[in-house]
Amino acid sequence: KTIPQVLYDTAKRFPNRDAAVFSMQGIRRTYQEFSDDVDRLAAGLITLGFQKNDRIGIWSPNRYEWLLTQFATARIGVILVNINPAYRTHELEYALNKVGCTGLITAPAFKTSDYAGMLVDLAPELKTSEPGELKSQRFPHLSTVICLGDDTPAGMIPFASVTGDPAALPPLDALDRNDPINIQFTSGTTGQPKGATLTHRNIVNNAWFVGDALVLSEQDRLCIPVPFYHCFGMVMGTLGSVLRGTAMIVPGEGFEAAATLKTVSDEKCTALYGVPTMFVNMLEHPNFASFDLSTLRTGIMAGAPCPIEVMRAVQTKMNMTEVTIAYGMTETSPVSFQSNVDDPTEKRVTSVGRIHPHVEVKIVDENGVPVPVGSQGELWTKGYSVMKGYWADDEKTADALDAEGWMHTGDLARMDEEGYVNITGRVKDMIVRGGENIYPREVEEFLYTHPAVSQVQVFGVPDQKFGEISCAWILKKPGATVDEAEIRAFCKEHIAYYKVPAHVRFVDEIPMTVTGKPQKFVMRDTMMEDLG
Ligand code: ATP
Ligand code: MG
Repeated sequence: KTIPQVLYDTAKRFPNRDAAVFSMQGIRRTYQEFSDDVDRLAAGLITLGFQKNDRIGIWSPNRYEWLLTQFATARIGVILVNINPAYRTHELEYALNKVGCTGLITAPAFKTSDYAGMLVDLAPELKTSEPGELKSQRFPHLSTVICLGDDTPAGMIPFASVTGDPAALPPLDALDRNDPINIQFTSGTTGQPKGATLTHRNIVNNAWFVGDALVLSEQDRLCIPVPFYHCFGMVMGTLGSVLRGTAMIVPGEGFEAAATLKTVSDEKCTALYGVPTMFVNMLEHPNFASFDLSTLRTGIMAGAPCPIEVMRAVQTKMNMTEVTIAYGMTETSPVSFQSNVDDPTEKRVTSVGRIHPHVEVKIVDENGVPVPVGSQGELWTKGYSVMKGYWADDEKTADALDAEGWMHTGDLARMDEEGYVNITGRVKDMIVRGGENIYPREVEEFLYTHPAVSQVQVFGVPDQKFGEISCAWILKKPGATVDEAEIRAFCKEHIAYYKVPAHVRFVDEIPMTVTGKPQKFVMRDTMMEDLG
């Protein structure tokens, strides 16, 4: 099916069930109302002149309008380009020009950054252009900027005015499930983000199987605190809910622990999605015990290594006994591995589960030859979920996708005899110290067992003697006291000498992408400056 077919089907089956609740905006819509709002916006975009295969970017935090835009663009075959709300003008310019966006939907300062203001600072000619006829040297393709909120800057079109008669919409068969419908930028954890081109078929099917593993239905109310711009939010979260008639409950523009806990409690959510650090922040919130989480049943922790201790705490303290881990990447729509609510608890806590239906996997050595069961190698995946390629970037596409259609994930993994997989790190993050391999993930897991450690990151820095040595950055638990000597002594007692971090630093913050991924390249640069 195409995305609009999915929405119409659900609106027909569950017209009166909650579709979307955005508490901070005071918005509550049933599936029928949501579907009608989408159609009016889609018709409004047609009135503005947008057509199939045009690209519209969206640069905004999580708002109801984001959700409408996701489904309205899909309705008319416009390719939605998700732009990270953490981007600033430099990255925005790169993204919009890279994919030739003719439209941009953006936002004024609601709670967080003033996106529209940043745009006007960058391209002041916007203010003097007629709305819809922008001419800018900076953005040679861009003609229309639509702005959310009440105070639309000169030259931009107010979002609320973009509306039209649904009778003017093109027939559904103008769309094909193999059409590209989304350009999703990767998180930028390892460097410059890449724009993965995905089709209806890619993401509809993946979102379906993600929901299957959790047994999500119209009875469920899913709390989505992860950013919509990322595949976790817009595929696993929103599209996954629409496929099953599940209610989408959105606690705020960005993640806040207290707001998320309160929303789960007020809206009686049954499921919750998040990256590991979000769960850590919620569990450590001083008022944690005051929130009623008894309605929670399931959810997904994904996007970054999920510490075993945190998984256990989520099950016992947040009532999410059926929580699963998922592993994936933007380029594969995104999920390739996910544990299933039927899997034994121990497997669900300690692995990313087994391969998703209709996806193939192999774990290979440097020469692309499969390694024996239980050995570590690079993970490759293949199947319906693999992207068409990176938009306008044949070179990077050829690096990632081989002629047989295998996606080389750049992640290290190990599979057991029953097919459960552990992600053991990124190939790029492996530290080679004097000829011995150190896998940061293994040392991190070990350090999480220290009672004073809240979050930890292990990474390598160049060293004259050993080639590379390992460093650990630690965020202490509130009130905990511990020093470098104690951490190193703790390591020496339990792990091999070469794995003991050569440098341990206590930090107040770990540099993260908005998708909650620790950016080791930033830590490495900082540390290299420190160490001279
Ligand atoms: P970039 O490709 O721009 O450097 P990125 O790889 O972080 O950024 P995403 O596509 O958002 O961009 O993330 C995919 C990556 O996230 C995977 O390749 C993997 O390294 C990591 N990841 C996702 N889920 C898990 C998980 N459950 N456990 C460990 N790592 C995970
Ligand atoms: Mg990546």
